[in-house]
Amino acid sequence: MRRNLYVSFMIPASTSKDAFDGLLLEMNCRSALVYGRLVGRTNSYELRYSDHDPSLDLVRRILQRKEISWSERLEVRYSDSELLALSYLIMGLGTVPVGYGGPRYGTEYDLENACRKCGTGAIQTSPLFVRPSDLPKRGVICQTHSCEILLRGDLAALLTQEQSGEMELRRVHASTDHRPLDWFQLIALCTMPPFSESTTGVVISDQCPECNRDGYFDTPTTPRQLVYCRNDMNLSAEPIVANTHECFGISRLQEPFSKSFLASPLLLVKPQMLSFMRRHRVARVGFEPVFVLG
Ligand SMILES: [Zn+2]
Repeated sequence: MRRNLYVSFMIPASTSKDAFDGLLLEMNCRSALVYGRLVGRTNSYELRYSDHDPSLDLVRRILQRKEISWSERLEVRYSDSELLALSYLIMGLGTVPVGYGGPRYGTEYDLENACRKCGTGAIQTSPLFVRPSDLPKRGVICQTHSCEILLRGDLAALLTQEQSGEMELRRVHASTDHRPLDWFQLIALCTMPPFSESTTGVVISDQCPECNRDGYFDTPTTPRQLVYCRNDMNLSAEPIVANTHECFGISRLQEPFSKSFLASPLLLVKPQMLSFMRRHRVARVGFEPVFVLG
């Protein structure tokens, strides 16, 4: 596990290069500079340190003395072998989302057991309709803005062959003429219990008062770390993929329904999904740990 602390700040564009080089030298962070660019009239910089680097106190003192405001962000990175030892992982893509899924292009949902006020908990009943032009020309996996994870046909076939366990790979259809596409949506068939209060790096904002299930967000400063109590987990089978009970974003039911937005659960997977993705050299798929206590 590697813990990095990123320190971000801006300095006036009028600062000379020599003065800035001097500042970096004083901060003892020449090698820690990971990011710097001109943004408008100010220079925005990000420095990376190990979170117990003794230089950090010095950096904070210097920034304070120079009256430069800054923010800090902690990042925790786990090795594959650490992740493979856990029960579940969060799977996501470190790529720019492609197009929109959700109800926008006519995908149908069963709202019977969903929240009547906001729609959270709606179950997708039809194929996902997406604009074919939104799908990547290269690459075998992508994620929409509404967080559906899509696998190209050849990768979906390999996953079906090599993995057994509760999940569905549902063929994606074109929003334009409803023809089937060579992409499949990875769908979890079960939902985890609510996560434990020990979970960190997740905040609640503008949550629906009826269902208390949407309105979850990541925080920019603290890494997301989901924790479950083993006693709460009464899953009948050990699913290879599962949705979180909590949904990220704010759900809104609108008329027509295609204008609605449904907050998205996170997709949890068994670590064998990590092995599968690595074995087939699928790039940019990210995995975060989920901790089960008790
Ligand atoms: Zn609701």
